[in-house]
Amino acid sequence: MSEKRIIFIGAHPDDPDVYFGGTAIKLAKAGHKVKFLSLTNGDRGHHILSPKEICAVRRKEADKACRLAGLVEYEIFDIHDCHLEVNLENRKKVMRSLRNFAPDLVITHRPCDYHPDHRAAAQLVLDCAYICMVPHFCEDTPIPEKSPVFAHCFDLFRDPRPQRADAAIEFESVMDEKLALLSCHHSQFFEWLPWISGMKDFDPGKLDDTARKEHLMKWMQRFRTAADNGRDILKKVHGAEKGAKICYAETFEQSPYSIQLPQEEFQAMLMP
Ligand SMILES: [Zn+2]
Repeated sequence: MSEKRIIFIGAHPDDPDVYFGGTAIKLAKAGHKVKFLSLTNGDRGHHILSPKEICAVRRKEADKACRLAGLVEYEIFDIHDCHLEVNLENRKKVMRSLRNFAPDLVITHRPCDYHPDHRAAAQLVLDCAYICMVPHFCEDTPIPEKSPVFAHCFDLFRDPRPQRADAAIEFESVMDEKLALLSCHHSQFFEWLPWISGMKDFDPGKLDDTARKEHLMKWMQRFRTAADNGRDILKKVHGAEKGAKICYAETFEQSPYSIQLPQEEFQAMLMP
């Protein structure tokens, strides 16, 4: 495959960056077309700013992330944070964005997740998998030439079952860039998330560059588990010795609701 078109559809403006940022940076650098879509505008996640204020801040932060990662677009739907519903109107909204981008691969959350918006996002995207190619559904936006592959990003949830790694992409080689991408979402990683996790006296102004990186690395720890999850694939791709030593990887699982690729082909789709 020459130029690949890949979209990550998440619930909030920063989900694509966390769950797919490393792979996205590598793909975009290699000239592939990568798009991030957030189904909500993230306007509830702040303890000081009003919903209107945080909504504007998050749009600016996403624009910064878009430039930094070299994305074709960072689209944000005008739907309130914590209000995402699985309904026909939203299914059509997702479908239009998806068909207009005509991706080879669509990635989203898994439907088992702690956040109601993540679960709803996963359901909305899965609901588009089969009917993406049904011409009489959402007739105002024509079906793409070929059916995209659908997949899920990594998470730590083990109930009803842990994620199955069908593809694994190391991102240690672009770790600084992935951290810089997260850093674009300052209102989240340096304000809201510390506050909601109980760090009430956290002052980002007191952090030097090293401390900022250390702080952001907290959100990367889950990808150590992901690397172990995808260890066999990492060894196959990078050789046994190097593959055994990779500490951080983003892993992806194919959805059974779209066309199924052999594991090697699915891996190749995510490789730069
Ligand atoms: Zn989220």
